[in-house]
Amino acid sequence: MTHRAPVNRIIRFSSVDGPGNRTVVFLQGCNYNCRYCHNPETRALCCHCGDCVAHCPAGALKKDADGHVLYAYEACVFCDACIRVCPHDASPRIRSLTAKETFEEIEKQIPYIRGVTVSGGECTLYPSYLAELFRLCKELSLETLLDTNGTLDLFSRPALFDVTDGVMLDVKAWDARVHRALTDHGNGDVLRHMIALAECGKLHEVRTVVMPEMVDAERTVRQTARALAPYLHLYPVRYKIIAFRPAGVRKEYASFATPDPPYLAYLSDLAKSEGMREVILI
Ligand code: SF4
Ligand code: SF4
Repeated sequence: MTHRAPVNRIIRFSSVDGPGNRTVVFLQGCNYNCRYCHNPETRALCCHCGDCVAHCPAGALKKDADGHVLYAYEACVFCDACIRVCPHDASPRIRSLTAKETFEEIEKQIPYIRGVTVSGGECTLYPSYLAELFRLCKELSLETLLDTNGTLDLFSRPALFDVTDGVMLDVKAWDARVHRALTDHGNGDVLRHMIALAECGKLHEVRTVVMPEMVDAERTVRQTARALAPYLHLYPVRYKIIAFRPAGVRKEYASFATPDPPYLAYLSDLAKSEGMREVILI
């Protein structure tokens, strides 16, 4: 059986989505509603309201007889007009690809890439597709990474777990109430999965976005680093501390403050004082 997923875009070469040069696949749809999301157009699947069709300057969008919005990839000039007008946090520029079709696009970059990262949206909404895609990657010795909010229990998906080399996981907030206010979801599963992945040496990186008005970054960084310290001999998990920036966010959050460099440096020192050896500020 072949599995499909809605593919938002494929970046052929990236050096910031895991180690080395990688192809990155972004899937559409997310189970969270992060207030600071920089790609809110990846959250929802298109409901075919048609509001964006008339705004396309290239004739790449049209409605068919059944009322479905059709997207012509070859005609698109990637002006983003459709994304700017969509009122549903969606995009019409989605291709429904099988794992094999996705892999055929990845394969073109061999031998210039070390591996593949799948991101989103929330890529783990499509575990069967991921398992098939990563199995194909492993057959050609490509390293496989998931970029996830940590909600999927990978251990309950052995077909995916076995072909996943590593996970990059967001710890958005340590306090469950803060996490819920930020994302609409608690964080119990995320923290459990983080530890379980660290225990088996598959946790590649954790990330926290520092948005001072909404996230208690000091507590989140301290507690996350403290929780991971006992496992760092199994794999040297990297902590990426990311400054909130307003570019791309929904307008109601665009006036939120960007943390200043001394505060970020303080958070980095805090993580290191708890045992993290590699901390990256961006
Ligand atoms: S990004 Fe593509 S589909 Fe969207 S409006 Fe521009 S040309 Fe049309
Ligand atoms: S992308 Fe947005 S505006 Fe366009 S048809 Fe889909 S839901 Fe409507």
